[in-house]
Amino acid sequence: MKTKTYSEVWDLDVFFKGGSSSPELRSHLDSLHLKLDSFEKTLTTFDIPKSSADAEKIAFVISETKNVAENLSQAGAVVGCYLAQDTTDKKANMLQGEIGSIGARFSSSMLVIQQQLSKTEENVWTTLMDSEQLKEFSFVLNEWRDEAKELLSEKEEDMITALGVDGYHGWGQLYDLLVGDVKVRVTVDGEEKEFSVGQASNLSSHSDETVRKEAHYALENAWTEKEEFFAKALNHMAGFRLAVYKKRGWDSVLKEPLQMNRMKQETLDAMWGAISNHKQPFVDYLKRKSEMLGTSAMNWYDLDAPVTASTEKVSYQEGAEFILKHFGKFGPELEQFSRKAFEDEWIEAEDRPNKRPGGFCTGMPLSQQSRIFMTYSGTMSNVATLAHELGHAFHSYALRPVHWMNRQYAMGVAETASTFAEMIVADAAVKEAKSAEEKLALLEDKIQRSVAFFMNIHARFLFETRFYDERKKGLVSATRLNELMEEAQREAFGNGLEEVHPHFWASKLHFYITRVPFYNFPYTFGYLFSLSIYAKAIEEGSSFEEKYIALLRDTAIMSVEDLAMKHLGEDITKHAFWEKGIALCIQDVEEFLELTSSKG
Ligand SMILES: [Zn+2]
Repeated sequence: MKTKTYSEVWDLDVFFKGGSSSPELRSHLDSLHLKLDSFEKTLTTFDIPKSSADAEKIAFVISETKNVAENLSQAGAVVGCYLAQDTTDKKANMLQGEIGSIGARFSSSMLVIQQQLSKTEENVWTTLMDSEQLKEFSFVLNEWRDEAKELLSEKEEDMITALGVDGYHGWGQLYDLLVGDVKVRVTVDGEEKEFSVGQASNLSSHSDETVRKEAHYALENAWTEKEEFFAKALNHMAGFRLAVYKKRGWDSVLKEPLQMNRMKQETLDAMWGAISNHKQPFVDYLKRKSEMLGTSAMNWYDLDAPVTASTEKVSYQEGAEFILKHFGKFGPELEQFSRKAFEDEWIEAEDRPNKRPGGFCTGMPLSQQSRIFMTYSGTMSNVATLAHELGHAFHSYALRPVHWMNRQYAMGVAETASTFAEMIVADAAVKEAKSAEEKLALLEDKIQRSVAFFMNIHARFLFETRFYDERKKGLVSATRLNELMEEAQREAFGNGLEEVHPHFWASKLHFYITRVPFYNFPYTFGYLFSLSIYAKAIEEGSSFEEKYIALLRDTAIMSVEDLAMKHLGEDITKHAFWEKGIALCIQDVEEFLELTSSKG
């Protein structure tokens, strides 16, 4: 079979020709303004439903909502891609501001709908939810109604949304700008070169300790130099959030993120509780790794260090083919879908300057397509990231037959499909290893994922909860933020680290995402949740794909507790569920310790 050469640069022209100066995009936005005008007009006559006869009218409003939302998402996603591929794109920056304002207006309209629905009398509501037109949307509508009851008056919420454009989201955008501006100089292969944050971060897995260390300190210095700017942004974002919560009478900063994740506090507690009880094997792993690296203790800058010399570069093409081969073993749909994503240039992976750091997947609903963004530098971990983002895209694909209203899945389950895809590739890589050295490197790559989810992300969660606690009492200085981060990292890594990364709070984009608070625990949730799905997939073979797609289709219409019960028959508010997933990860560590016992 002849294989195609896949482009490392994505195609965005298929949506709007000409990038951020595109006339097509301009007219799309102009017509979006008009659509929103007429939507807002429709809503001026949208009263509190009085009887079951109003079902028709609500259904109409839902279809209008879908229309505006899809057009808005389409523009937002494409402009987000423009900015990610070139952080210096000033026009895209302007467009992002414009789309932000449209988004705020749209959110206000959504609130009007939610407020009106929340005032519906209980008996009318029950008949509406049973009606032919609305039955399909009852989970989401009930959720809206419940949430609206917790909000302030329409006028007040309206004002919060409007002020949030500049007083909240603006801080997040400022962060992106600041990071794009950070350049560090690192000597690699005897030559000093300038690196963007994304490129310098990729050096954390460089085989040369000097390079890793130099990149780490160059970044730490860069963050230190600008720490006041980052501290300012972080404090004001958090301050805005807390002020809003206080006005609404919400005590816990976790209320919103839990609600957004359709998750109970008990579930979150059970998850972190089970993880905290099983840190030791991972601490043992860190210790062994530091011995293998010839250092007395594990340091932050060595966490991603390769443990063997066989760190072969994987070309983009090879990486793509590896992914497709193993996706194919799991299920035909995932493979065919991903092949198309490669062929149709859905992926931006080129290693070049001025790109935003990190990776993401975004959906263009009007075109029923997704786009994947990352910087591919040829490591197996990059291949896994690519698989991860393809998993996200596959989730959107699985949801294609589902109405927009029932497609709005939360982050925890969003990370399920991505982690699942990543796991297929990571596991396959270990099993297919051609030498003991390679096997070790790949096994380690897998364990590093557990370290990331059980330790690194746990540290982020601990930091964020503690930071919020202190922020309630006033501004938190950069020095204090460093202390809080250091404490969180020491604890989350089970005291397995000597040198930590105090400025991590400045370096990690996730703390500055305004759309989603607590952009951390859902990752760990998704990881462990998908591990149990993965275990079932191995048991059942490729016939499992149908069930897997059914689970993905249900991800936006029930709580995570119900989803696990329906599709997996598991109670996730109990430690026992989480321990099963953790046990799989501990097996990897045990295998690693055994393979390396002579090297210790
Ligand atoms: Zn993800």
